[in-house]
Amino acid sequence: VDDLASLVERLPDGAVSTHPGELTSRSRDAWPLAMLREVRGDRLPRPLAVVFPRATEDVAHTLEWATETRTAVVPRGAGSGVCGGAQAVWRGVVLDLSRMSRILEIDDESQTVRAEAGIRGDPLERALSERGLTLGHYPQSMAISSLGGWIAAASAGQASAGYGAIEDRLLGLTAVLGSGRVVQLPAAPRSATGPDLRRMFVGSEGTLAVVTEATLSVARRPESLRWLATAPSSFEAGTALVRELLQRRLHPVVVRVYDEVDAGMTFGPVGHGSGPVAIAAFEASRVGDAGLEEARRLALEAGAGPLGEDYGRHWWGHRNDAVVLYRRIMGDERMFGAGVIVDTMEVAAIWRHVPRLYDAVREALLEHASQAVGCHLSHPYASGASLYFTFLIRAEDDAAAERAYLEAWRRAAAACRGAEGTLSHHHGVGLLKAPFLVDALGPAAVSTLRSLKAAADPAGILNPGKLLETEP
Ligand SMILES: Cc1cc2nc3c(=O)[nH]c(=O)nc-3n(C[C@H](O)[C@H](O)[C@H](O)COP(=O)(O)OP(=O)(O)OC[C@H]3O[C@@H](n4cnc5c(N)ncnc54)[C@H](O)[C@@H]3O)c2cc1C
Repeated sequence: VDDLASLVERLPDGAVSTHPGELTSRSRDAWPLAMLREVRGDRLPRPLAVVFPRATEDVAHTLEWATETRTAVVPRGAGSGVCGGAQAVWRGVVLDLSRMSRILEIDDESQTVRAEAGIRGDPLERALSERGLTLGHYPQSMAISSLGGWIAAASAGQASAGYGAIEDRLLGLTAVLGSGRVVQLPAAPRSATGPDLRRMFVGSEGTLAVVTEATLSVARRPESLRWLATAPSSFEAGTALVRELLQRRLHPVVVRVYDEVDAGMTFGPVGHGSGPVAIAAFEASRVGDAGLEEARRLALEAGAGPLGEDYGRHWWGHRNDAVVLYRRIMGDERMFGAGVIVDTMEVAAIWRHVPRLYDAVREALLEHASQAVGCHLSHPYASGASLYFTFLIRAEDDAAAERAYLEAWRRAAAACRGAEGTLSHHHGVGLLKAPFLVDALGPAAVSTLRSLKAAADPAGILNPGKLLETEP
């Protein structure tokens, strides 16, 4: 408590809250296991206080204080992470960036935006669209996630085929290291001034630094999108078609392939019968239209029959519906009852391994999932793609659900590794996947990461136990 008083003295009035409601609401993120634990009545780790910085210097003062007092600090954007990365730590503080949400500059000439890290996706995109611009970064969690969280968790949006993922938009940033030192990396389109330190913060999950500000590249907002929807003969045939699309550089903005199970759930409302579905969107423009025509021809050649454009439009209109559905299943309402846990696993591999990755992860999840496991390919590249699995575990009670859930993850992580997949494409590691990190990256890579952490955060106060397991 004395320590907390010395923090309060260093920060502007009202920056430190010990309000019980605020402590409770910042105790977890959107990790399904934490949500299950909360609704069944477990005590989740509660922070000592929630700190609301309004400027980079408030963050620096907080981290200097934490280093002196050896207090754990959990950076928090909007708390939409699904791996426990923003879960509070007993006797630590949560550093909530939500009051640092200003747009500092939109540069129409360079097509860049500079904003504070706590801004959420919707207001940022609204401000850009008023200027005829878009960030092109549309995670499903757009309304419930923040710019700093996107960088820290290496986020990818649904239009990644057209705009890339967050690292492709990131031009410069300001971050406060665990020690309290401020690193400012000015916006540059590319730089060979040593290793690219901007990338060091992408995916660092609040363990090295707190991102307080970033400059991102934006683009002209397309007037409209044109959709192609087809029915490939199998999921594998659909992924082969997407590979061709990307390797021929046809410039799609959105590309997705759904296996039979996922297609049923996603396109049931437009009357989809059976079989996988592939959809792609192209900008209505000279380049986009040409891409669409060639894609249509390729699909026909590959034996993928045409489906209506309503498939694409339906998907676009409902692309964020899962946010509400997820809350209804895992939140207080417990739509599917107790003993149920639903989660997603997003992995990636180079094309050669994609079919094996699909089979291996699906099989591992099916051993524990109570219903069919659905999968779609959502982020394609010329060299490979990510696969996104949705699974639901139903057990006789919450304790059995937790056991089955952890075992399903353990098996699926091993299966992913065995099929040469990468453990996470865009959700990150957090608490959930930290036990699998050495297996995923190898001991030398993990000890390099630990050395980096020791340099940036010598007292080890930043987000302990996340990404890197706490050393014994
Ligand atoms: C329904 C649903 C759909 C989702 N869809 C997508 C999707 O399409 N694409 C996608 O990429 N993700 C998706 N996610 C996951 C999540 O939204 C992303 O991981 C997002 O980037 C997290 O942002 P946040 O601001 O909520 O971060 P938080 O959950 O608050 O934090 C995430 C991690 O980053 C750290 N962190 C947060 N802010 C900072 C900062 N300023 N400086 C340093 N560290 C920080 C935290 O400590 C934590 O480790 C989805 C989640 C849900 C619940």
